[in-house]
Amino acid sequence: MSATVIDGKAFAASVREKVAGHVARLKEEHGITPGLAVVLVGEDPASQVYVRSKGKMTVEVGMNSYEHKLEADTSEADLLALIDRLNKDADVHGILVQLPLPGHLDEDLVINAIDPAKDVDGFHISNVGLLGTGQKSMVPCTPLGSLMMLRDHHGALSGMNAVVIGRSNIVGKPMAQLLLGDSCTVTIAHSRTKDLPDVVRRADIVVAAVGRPEMVPGDWIKEGATVIDVGINRIDAPEKGTNEDGSVKTRLVGDCHYESCAERAGAITPVPGGVGPMTIACLLANTVTACCRANGLAEPEGLTA
Ligand code: NDP
Repeated sequence: MSATVIDGKAFAASVREKVAGHVARLKEEHGITPGLAVVLVGEDPASQVYVRSKGKMTVEVGMNSYEHKLEADTSEADLLALIDRLNKDADVHGILVQLPLPGHLDEDLVINAIDPAKDVDGFHISNVGLLGTGQKSMVPCTPLGSLMMLRDHHGALSGMNAVVIGRSNIVGKPMAQLLLGDSCTVTIAHSRTKDLPDVVRRADIVVAAVGRPEMVPGDWIKEGATVIDVGINRIDAPEKGTNEDGSVKTRLVGDCHYESCAERAGAITPVPGGVGPMTIACLLANTVTACCRANGLAEPEGLTA
């Protein structure tokens, strides 16, 4: 079998188009422009790239983007004061604090200082609890994007066996909650799981969120299963030659070995071009959802869990 490739790039473009349509309607019919504030502390190069592309895409869908770049040695009190101002700012509907934060700042404290209604990353303890109890919440972007792709591919997920490899608070756990919410039978695997290959072989849906390059080989995959590869890992690619400074060129791979998994799966997301683009698209979707909720307006359909 050769798997259907789930094109996350194209799907993300369609989500952004939907978001742009809602933003245009909010402006025309209600005079409201959704706004997303992104807070970056320090100069981590990867975080800078993420923040730049989030800002660019926010503007592209017609929303306001507010970037707050703070020095690496910013005190917790100053960061909390900024979050308090953003919580109170009626033009800001979504707040995202780019992680990781420098070591002297308490991430849990900072995230839980965000107004849950503006917590577009869905990491606030209130949103975690709401998701866990099946109530309306802000849903973390990467699992939300993965769920959207699964629903689009399968329609109903009810009764399917799903295995989520990874139990992080930002991907594995919320992913499992969402699949449970869609009536899958869910197993969460992690580094202590026994007989992981056998566990994965039972799955109709495999979501890999581990952070280990190409860890899942094709022979773990049940014939016809759907594979959602969340992993983003950079590995050496000597076949691509060297950079000007003599270092070996690199390439991105997922947590699944793409070629062998694609031979057995019914559908698979590639890396890059799968889950990654959906994450930012869902951030924009969450911002427009937060804006509608804040203004007592109907939520856009198909952009929430
Ligand atoms: P974490 O490091 O927080 O969690 C990794 C999980 O994998 C842990 O639960 C860990 O288990 C489990 N694990 C580690 N080794 C094994 C193993 N040998 N067998 C089974 N499970 C194992 O990672 P994240 O959840 O933050 O991210 C996972 C991956 O997803 C990364 O590659 C990251 O870059 C990527 N990612 C991609 C995003 C996107 O937009 N596409 C967004 C966010 C993340 P234990 O708990 O027992 O230690």
